[in-house]
Amino acid sequence: MDPPVDMTVRGMGSTSTPSVLGRVDHTASSYYPEVISILKGIFKLAHFRKNQLECITATLDGRDVFYLAPTGGGKSLCYQLPALCKTGKTQGTTFVISPLLSLIEDQVSTLRKKGINAFRLINTADADEAYDAMPRLRKGESLPLVYTTPEKLLSSNNVQDIVVQLHKEKQLARFVVDEAHVIGGWRVWRESYASLGILRKQWPDIPIMALTGSANKSAIEDIKESLALRDPVCLKQSFNRSNLYYKVKKKPSQKKELLKEMAGFIQSHHKDDTGIIYCLSREDCEDVARRLREEFDLSARHFHAGMDRDTKRINQEDWSNGRCKIIVATIAFGMGIDKPDVRFVIHATMSKDMDGYYQETGRAGRDGKPSDCILFYAYSDAMKIQNMLKNPHDQNNKPPPDELERQLERLSAVVAYASNESDCRRVTLLRHFDETFDEAECHKHCDNCCKPGTVVHENHTETSQQAIQLLRDMSNVSRERGIPLTLFKDVWRGKKGATVSAFTGLPGYAAATRLDHRMIDRIVTQLLYSNIFATRRTTSGNGFGNNYLEVSDSLPLSQISVYPSDSWAVMLKIVELGECRSLSAIKELTTCRGRLNRHRQHQQRNHGQVARNL
Ligand code: ADP
Ligand code: MG
Ligand code: ZN
Repeated sequence: MDPPVDMTVRGMGSTSTPSVLGRVDHTASSYYPEVISILKGIFKLAHFRKNQLECITATLDGRDVFYLAPTGGGKSLCYQLPALCKTGKTQGTTFVISPLLSLIEDQVSTLRKKGINAFRLINTADADEAYDAMPRLRKGESLPLVYTTPEKLLSSNNVQDIVVQLHKEKQLARFVVDEAHVIGGWRVWRESYASLGILRKQWPDIPIMALTGSANKSAIEDIKESLALRDPVCLKQSFNRSNLYYKVKKKPSQKKELLKEMAGFIQSHHKDDTGIIYCLSREDCEDVARRLREEFDLSARHFHAGMDRDTKRINQEDWSNGRCKIIVATIAFGMGIDKPDVRFVIHATMSKDMDGYYQETGRAGRDGKPSDCILFYAYSDAMKIQNMLKNPHDQNNKPPPDELERQLERLSAVVAYASNESDCRRVTLLRHFDETFDEAECHKHCDNCCKPGTVVHENHTETSQQAIQLLRDMSNVSRERGIPLTLFKDVWRGKKGATVSAFTGLPGYAAATRLDHRMIDRIVTQLLYSNIFATRRTTSGNGFGNNYLEVSDSLPLSQISVYPSDSWAVMLKIVELGECRSLSAIKELTTCRGRLNRHRQHQQRNHGQVARNL
């Protein structure tokens, strides 16, 4: 056995739990002395974060590892450190596959500054280091860390030769697949990532480590399967980012107003701070940045994939160095950006899915200091994104129907998050990563937790049934003209006047007078997103004014049943070919903030209600 570890060092790691408690004490492993000395001597860090040591020990032991930790959690260290160890079961080069050139460049230059001989097998501005590497290898130079992209690995004979050579000489310590969530089948844009299954096929004896900052249960299974991980050590860190304050604001319909709100927020809370504003389109980025500069005297630049390389580089560098404070960007901006002091992330338009939202907001506060994440939400934005997904610019990139369906489901999760005005943002956000979060742990660090009053459950089953019936009735009255959303809401709320006169005789007229207009919005939103309502767009313009509302004909109405759950909450269950759909989205409808006596009234009113078909 290995010599015992110096007891004075033992307390240093984050996992000094004695093995008598059933957990392995990783500080007692034979690798620990070397590992801790590299941590301090080369990486100049005092101690490990949660799970880092477990990860490192497992890979040094020759095990496959799957590590899930939030962005900024310190995943890189988990393979950079073992790459320098001499005591591991497998020796030689750690071969890192990373999806992004800028990410590789960043890491390699940081490592070289630490005196580590890191190599990038990618086409760079100066040279193709893949040509360089082989002769240096032949001369016996040790290459502890080599980075490449999946495309390069799959397409370059040179790179493959290097792997083969290293393997032959038993100098291939492990493969690392960083940002492994890119593998997920739906990210069609990285097919090469999905083809990384060849690592295991071609070199079955080489351990694999997969790292990701973003994955839910099914994505994890996808990664494990695609890479054919063998009984991997799976480690997961909480995704809660306690220093981030989450807030959702209603997005003004006028752009001028939106700009005013954003600028006002920045000037009053983050004057001179660094931040990111995410917009949907390239034109939007340019326009918002320009107007923030010209009309509000803010230091803003734009960034998107359509810019020329140089301007892109300059804007990004100036922002990184603090010469420019605000970057207004599409989601093309950010992956691999490791700026620690981003104090705010504003979403001028919602993200397409919760994964993206988490990643984008996650760029704030990497230094652990308090930072703001503000989402400006409008349902019309969801409609815009929905249309973009259905009709992508590049028609060749059109997703297959089932894929589109999944994308729409993911979008609906963001709608549910944004339109939820009661539940702790963290609870909803972290649920997406299958993490159960206790609201008390939020410490009033989100807008909903800061609202006064207690959360109560209200049952809106009847209300929803009324809405469906009302819309059907209205459609019957006005067959050709179509029902604009605003008209529907006006009738339901019992507005008076000429516009609604054709509908005042319907039983559902004025049925929702007692409902708050935000609750009406939420109910309609959820009915839309559970495919019970649908919108038909007219040709001119975007937004709600041009969307006609109809009861979806894609579902057999006789099979829609609406019934209360055990907590008298709305559970709209769509039964289609025996399958439930969109249940998660609809659950968001179930809570709202209100007074307790209202809650009791509802309880009485709905007592004994049974499931019934419409
Ligand atoms: P991830 O890949 O998980 O997004 P990174 O590996 O880029 O995160 O690390 C994020 C930051 O955390 C880096 O600045 C890194 O130096 C720092 N870091 C990593 N591990 C530790 C540690 N044990 N102690 C202090 N800082 C750490
Ligand atoms: Mg990383
Ligand atoms: Zn909260």
